[in-house]
Amino acid sequence: MPKEQAKRAKLVIGNWKMHGRLAENAVLMQAVATGATTLQKGVRAAVCVPAPYLAQAQALLGGSVVAWGVQDVSAHTQGAYTGEVAAGMAADFDATFAIVGHSERRAYHGEHSDLVAVKAQRALEAGLTPIVCVGETLEQRENGLTEQVVGTQLEAVLLVLSEAQAAKIVVAYEPVWAIGTGKSATTAQAQQVHAFLRAQLAGKSAAVADVPVLYGGSVKPENAEELFAQQDIDGGLIGGASLKSNDFLAICQAAQNVSV
Ligand code: PEP
Repeated sequence: MPKEQAKRAKLVIGNWKMHGRLAENAVLMQAVATGATTLQKGVRAAVCVPAPYLAQAQALLGGSVVAWGVQDVSAHTQGAYTGEVAAGMAADFDATFAIVGHSERRAYHGEHSDLVAVKAQRALEAGLTPIVCVGETLEQRENGLTEQVVGTQLEAVLLVLSEAQAAKIVVAYEPVWAIGTGKSATTAQAQQVHAFLRAQLAGKSAAVADVPVLYGGSVKPENAEELFAQQDIDGGLIGGASLKSNDFLAICQAAQNVSV
C-alpha cells in the first residue's frame, strides 16, 4: 500500500441539497446515526443538510459518530444580506463542514472562484471545514480542458489562504457531467484528476498535500469501493444516494472496506 494512502482516513459526506422535511429527516438521521456506529476509526461520515435543519441535525446527530454541515455559506460575516446564512450561524449549531463552490451554486447563482475563495475563508474563520468543490463540464472535458479548469478553480482558493488555513480544507472533485446523471467518472478518470489536484496541493506545502480529496458524481454502493480504493481518492461527496440511509451506509461501508 502506498505510504501516503495509509495516512489519510476516508471521509464520506452526504449533500442532501434542497431535500427533506422534519419528519423524513428524523427517520434518515436516526437510521444513519444508528448504522454508522459500526464504522471504525478509518472512516468519518457527515451530512450537509439545508440550513433550516441544522438544529435538528444537532439534536439528532449530536453524540453520534456522524457530523453535519451546510451546503453553502455567505461571503459576509453579518449585515444586510437578505436570505444569506453566515458561517458563524452554522457554527452556532456545531456544524463541522461547509460546502463551497458546488457546481449548482456556480451554475445557478453565478458564483465564481474568487467568491468561492472568500466563502472558504469565512468558513475557516468560523471554525468550519470548507469542502471546496471543483469540476469541469462535459464540453470542457471534451475540449481537453479538465486540468486547466479544476486547476484554476482550486488555485483561486489556495491563493487567498495561508498554508495553515489551506491544510484545513477538504477538496471535492465533482465533474459536472457526473452530478445527478447516474454517469460516474471511471475510476481511472477520477484518479487522474485527483492526482493532478494532489500535486497542486503539494505545491503549497506537504501538510496541504495531505488534505482529503473527495470524489463526487453519481457515487453509489455499486461503484464506491472501486473509486475509494484509488490512491488519491479519500472518500466521496454523495448527493442522491445520501437520501437513502441504506445506500449512504453501504457507501460508508465501502470506505471502511478499503480503509487502513
Ligand atoms: C453532488 O451534488 O454533490 C453529487 C455528487 O450528486 P450525485 O451524487 O447525486 O451525483
